[in-house]
Amino acid sequence: MPKRLGGVAVDFNQQPLAALPGIGPRVAGKFAARGLETLQDLWLWLPRGYEDRTALTPIRALQAGVSAQVQGRVEAVERGFRYRPQLRVAIGDDSRSTLVLRFFHFRAQQVAQFAPGAIVRCFGTPRPGAHGLEMVHPSYRVLDADEHPLGDALDPVYPPVEGIGPATLRKLVGLALDRLPDAASLELLPPELLAGFGLPGLRESLLVLHRPPRDADVPALHAGTHPAQRRLALEELLAHQLGLRRRRIAMQRRASPALDAKGRLVEKLRKSLPFDLTAAQNRVFGEVRGDLARAHPMLRLVQGDVGSGKTVVAAMAALQAIECGKQAALMAPTELLAEQHLANLKSWLEPLGINVGWLAGKVGGKARAQVLADAASGDAQLLVGTHALMQEGVEFHDLALAIVDEQHRFGVHQRLALRDKGGAGNRVPHQLVMTATPIPRTLAMSAYADLDVSSIDELPPGRTPVQTVVLSGERRPELVERIRAACAEGRQAYWVCTVIDDSDEVVAQAAQTTYESLVAALPELRVGLVHGRMKPAEKQMVMRAFKQGDIHLLVATTVIEVGVDVANASLMIVENAERLGLAQLHQLRGRVGRGSARSSCVLLYQPPLSAMAKQRLETLRETNDGFRIAEKDLQLRGPGELLGTRQTGLAAFRVADLARDADLLPQVRAIAERLLADSPALADRVIARWVGASARYASA
Ligand code: ADP
Ligand code: MG
Repeated sequence: MPKRLGGVAVDFNQQPLAALPGIGPRVAGKFAARGLETLQDLWLWLPRGYEDRTALTPIRALQAGVSAQVQGRVEAVERGFRYRPQLRVAIGDDSRSTLVLRFFHFRAQQVAQFAPGAIVRCFGTPRPGAHGLEMVHPSYRVLDADEHPLGDALDPVYPPVEGIGPATLRKLVGLALDRLPDAASLELLPPELLAGFGLPGLRESLLVLHRPPRDADVPALHAGTHPAQRRLALEELLAHQLGLRRRRIAMQRRASPALDAKGRLVEKLRKSLPFDLTAAQNRVFGEVRGDLARAHPMLRLVQGDVGSGKTVVAAMAALQAIECGKQAALMAPTELLAEQHLANLKSWLEPLGINVGWLAGKVGGKARAQVLADAASGDAQLLVGTHALMQEGVEFHDLALAIVDEQHRFGVHQRLALRDKGGAGNRVPHQLVMTATPIPRTLAMSAYADLDVSSIDELPPGRTPVQTVVLSGERRPELVERIRAACAEGRQAYWVCTVIDDSDEVVAQAAQTTYESLVAALPELRVGLVHGRMKPAEKQMVMRAFKQGDIHLLVATTVIEVGVDVANASLMIVENAERLGLAQLHQLRGRVGRGSARSSCVLLYQPPLSAMAKQRLETLRETNDGFRIAEKDLQLRGPGELLGTRQTGLAAFRVADLARDADLLPQVRAIAERLLADSPALADRVIARWVGASARYASA
């Protein structure tokens, strides 16, 4: 509980750092630059590693890359000035091995210290040098004749704070720790709960992590799985969960039009479609429809693997708004994809008498003036477009539903900007976001705690899984025959170019070169080229020709990654596949296998493959299941990169690691619900401790 001083509640955890001796305004400023302002911030400034100075390692037993403490006698000293000044000191010990200490910055006085025969104790990470192992800039001490006991605890290594040396930082954190309040005042989590998890209290955990005892489980500490770390991770995840839940509760207080249409238009659409909806599509639409009928904003993520048919679900949602006399908007991340949506939606909705408007950056002049007027008057019942939709000057008459496709390509802020187009006072439109990059379940619970999630977990019938092969780039010539064979059967193919430098220009150049060589190698085929540097009209023309079957082979950059839908294409070749991420490759591969023909995807790589790239390609070869691929991606890359803080609004974690600590999430969720219901004030303090003022959550 906060202590009461003179009748005012003061949370002494929030004492400014200047309360510590040795911290004046200048030093405090340096800490503040890292977001460290209070004692509590320093308590939570946890070591990123530990140095074990409790023992000496014989030089002979040193291993490259494994830090250790050694002690030896100076055997030789050499000062060189080859490219820059450097000092090399060779030390030897009883194991009759030699280690070189190498310094690039040093003072004359330092050189004098290393007299041959002097005893040096140093700590560092050895690496292979020209003559055996060496340590570059180890921390060291030249010992005098006295006894020098070894350390009795692991030394914490803190993430650096610019302008403050490691020794000072260690000292100041130590001083802050000396001011830790007693366990009961520090603890926010109910004790019975912690006992249930078998996890230690906060005070004990902090002390263990900052000052690990000699017998601490060092491998666990390094792996981040020590109970003290789990305990902190639990509380941190809880804080974030609470923050997101709060945000959701605030959102639920806002109003949205209740779109409780009977579904007359939806029925008409269903009847006109050349296919039946899958059970999963029906279920997900049911969820969306239920949300829309309420007078509070929907915020629902529809995830479904590539080709699972999300667009038609979006169309049905839009129809619910339109039947109620309101507008809907659909925003896609690329012009190519937006155009394709436009074509689909027009073909589905115009026969029902619905006016579909189009707005992209390139739409100018009269056309632009017209679409803006239609949006503002309400004549455009559905507006399809790119980022241009949320620009200034775009006004809606009555936007009731904002749909964002492939939302991982947008930032949270962009999604919100579209929503705000329909906002007025306390009123906001409903939001539907769609993604083909499935989020592993555990992660979704945390990253999207403010969203409801629906999954279209079934592909339309009649699709045959894509066969994936992984080949070294040397076998490129064989592929020409493969393309020839596929096209001879009336199929079409993609050739996807990537290069290291991903500037549009360089990629376009590479695609151009590949295009020319394929044109030469396959004279009997019509080959097309599409890349990001082409004019939209040109791109569109090529895409249309490919879709109509006028082009057999399409050479493309990854602009075709998202959404492009040509069911007759049955072969895809991806060059330099090792350079692309799992999710991106899965997306690309999703461009084939959309019809009933047997399809294949050839992933070409440039040897040698890194271990990581090998695992990625193996994963793709083994499975077509987007969820499994996402799990693997999470495992390989970690959630930060997978989700991107920018996309999710997730702040970076201090202790928790969503991949490593994912098993805590179900409990975290349960505890969050309980705290919000039973002790909202406590919930506030948990949020403040971890997320606090520095929270970079975008308000939803
Ligand atoms: P994605 O979920 O990847 O965005 P799309 O919405 O682009 O998928 O749908 C992929 C293709 O499948 C489109 O051509 C679409 O018309 C078609 N489709 C959608 N639903 C079905 C279904 N239930 N049965 C057959 N084809 C479908
Ligand atoms: Mg799509």
